[in-house]
Amino acid sequence: MNLFDVYPLFDIEPVKASGSYLWDKNGTKYLDLYGGHAVISIGHSHPYYVNKLTEQLNRMGFYSNSVKIPLQEELAKKLGELSGYNDYNLFLCNSGAEANENAIKLASFHNGRKKIIAFSQSFHGRTSLAVAATDDPSIVAPINQTENIFFLPFNDEGALDNAIDENTCAVIIEGIQGVGGVNIPTISFLKKIKSLCEKHGALLILDEVQSGYGRSGKFFAHQFSDIKPDIITIAKGMGNGFPVAGVLINPNIKAKHSMLGTTFGGNYLACVAAIAVLDVIKKENLIANAKTMGDYIVSRLAGIDGIKEIRALGLMIGVELDFPCADIRKQLLFDHKIFTGSASNKNTIRILPALNVGKAEADMFINAFQQVIKKSLVNKS
Ligand code: PLP
Repeated sequence: MNLFDVYPLFDIEPVKASGSYLWDKNGTKYLDLYGGHAVISIGHSHPYYVNKLTEQLNRMGFYSNSVKIPLQEELAKKLGELSGYNDYNLFLCNSGAEANENAIKLASFHNGRKKIIAFSQSFHGRTSLAVAATDDPSIVAPINQTENIFFLPFNDEGALDNAIDENTCAVIIEGIQGVGGVNIPTISFLKKIKSLCEKHGALLILDEVQSGYGRSGKFFAHQFSDIKPDIITIAKGMGNGFPVAGVLINPNIKAKHSMLGTTFGGNYLACVAAIAVLDVIKKENLIANAKTMGDYIVSRLAGIDGIKEIRALGLMIGVELDFPCADIRKQLLFDHKIFTGSASNKNTIRILPALNVGKAEADMFINAFQQVIKKSLVNKS
């Protein structure tokens, strides 16, 4: 059997990882400033995380959501404390798309409505409702197309007025748009969405799948504003590579048995991975480090020729160049052994390091970036 060929691959085979570094099968060392799509939050193979998962695997790997699993309660308690959402309820699932799928479904169960508002350049996943709310027609299959989802221009407050009304079920927006190229919603845009949702009985869903878990320098990116969404979705950094996701739900939204469900969601190993991540984020003060290191990287990038704009909060950094960045990323990877990320905006490089990245790694990247940009600008002139 062959693999279904849906992924363009780099000819690199990592076999070992630690902190912000990877090693391939030939022993070549790479600096990882992308974390496999923003997934690595506490660093690769963090010893505390490895021990906790190993211990749990030796004890028990799985049983379904038909028995008591106190690890789920421990996770919910720790997540509530660290995120500031103690009073919310948690539904556990397995991926970002699944979290958004459940969030939209839950909103519709709650107010009985169907109309969803999403935004230009959004990415919410590849399952049916999540992909329909994603602004990329190339990944929406005919069967996913629905007249229930409407797109508005991102950060355009004027466009909100007539669009959010008494038929609106929910508005879904990323804490910071990731795949779209690190686009940060303004505080007044978020506030206006929240107040229109309140006015019309619509729910606000904050997709923090990529921007959450401390990456922005706060636990959630939307916490730079004082709004409280009705539903928050999380995944990626939550398990540091173990597939786990969640939906944080305002207590006004009532649960009913069987309204949501999953076989694997909230399994023992997923809970242990997610608890270990929260323990490390807290103990090692990683949210503060994300802010400090993010500010440092941005300050060192400022003024480099060829950069059109830097959009960043903490360690969610988008560097938009005056020209397409594919070649720059290739040179960083193959000549300097540094992983970075792309975006749907072809000129934007995404830098999404582990939250415990250090100054030495940041400097390594800046020096390599300066060299690569300089070479590229000389070649262009
Ligand atoms: N939401 C956002 C903001 C994302 O960035 C992604 C993935 O990149 C998803 C949802 C989908 O997550 P997953 O790939 O885990 O389904």
